[in-house]
Amino acid sequence: MAGETILVVGGAGYIGSHMVKDLVRADKNVVVLDNLSRGHRDLVPGGVFVEGDLGDSTLLDRVFSEYKIDAVMHFAAYSLVGESVESPLAYYRNNISRTIELLEAMIRHAVRRFIFSSTAAVYGEPESLPITEEHPCRPTNPYGESKLAVEQLLADCARAGDLQYVSLRYFNAAGADVSGDLGERHGPETHLIPLVLQAALGEREGIQVFGTDYPTSDGTCLRDYVHVSDLTRAHLLALQRLTSGGNNAIYNLGNSKGYSVREVIETARRVTGHSIPTVASGRRAGDPAVLVADSGKIRGELGWKPRYEDLQTIIETAWVWHQREAQRKKNHRSETAVDLQVPAKD
Ligand code: UDP
Repeated sequence: MAGETILVVGGAGYIGSHMVKDLVRADKNVVVLDNLSRGHRDLVPGGVFVEGDLGDSTLLDRVFSEYKIDAVMHFAAYSLVGESVESPLAYYRNNISRTIELLEAMIRHAVRRFIFSSTAAVYGEPESLPITEEHPCRPTNPYGESKLAVEQLLADCARAGDLQYVSLRYFNAAGADVSGDLGERHGPETHLIPLVLQAALGEREGIQVFGTDYPTSDGTCLRDYVHVSDLTRAHLLALQRLTSGGNNAIYNLGNSKGYSVREVIETARRVTGHSIPTVASGRRAGDPAVLVADSGKIRGELGWKPRYEDLQTIIETAWVWHQREAQRKKNHRSETAVDLQVPAKD
């Protein structure tokens, strides 16, 4: 195959599937590896698909031998804070051990370039805002710990001369591909914007607002929502940096503007025209009051510029997707019902 070949691990997930689309559009050869434990085969928009797990070293060797992989993008991780508090070992195994197995396979096959999906959860409770990459990293949950541990081992491997990497610390990934063909499909769903839109669709009764006594203007948490396609664009820039011999780097990815939970709900009401009932609830464990990125570093060094900065646009793209998803689920239910009505053959 002519051109660069990128292995996208976790390419059937939310951000990974958008990445595959962007890479295909950028004329890269794409190989997707996903165990489909949380991803969806029908969301992979192109490339070669390999179903399998990072724990399977024979499979990894086969993938690296069969395709001449130039770089790896790693999206396959568990990413729910609450779940990580309840099941820390599952997080450490999946997010750290499996990444070590992936890196070992890369090193066996002399593949050097690695782009890692990290998170704002590595910072913990912010001491100063907006958060720069120099802010101390003191995660407050196993999810953040697991991502920070991988960043540490990437730095060590790079020092040992084994790889070059860029680690991208996402703030709140949101929105959907503007085509409406790709978007967020989690089961169970725990993220604010999809939950709010499901409530608008009548799939949920309403939304619990976790914490109304935070020291913010309206008492609810502020988050920095960044469009998924702006995240994938940053990966392309990171890839270019590594391909042209740039140094290892860590970058924040956010819009540098915080929106409160209430502002998100209000904006979704405007976009959807639905009322979206809310109930004030207690704080969710481990939620910092405010998480807002300073992403000046990636803007300055790689020229990253988000295209979908305002919350309304982000929610509009997600709304198109969620309406389609609702239709898909409805069609699926009626097909299943028809199947059940077909009399069994003798
Ligand atoms: N949130 C909420 N109700 C919900 C889900 C989330 O009030 O049903 C709040 C949550 O406490 C946080 C913000 O919405 O302040 C964003 O949460 P999300 O889970 O989307 O992302 P996170 O910040 O945990 O990565």
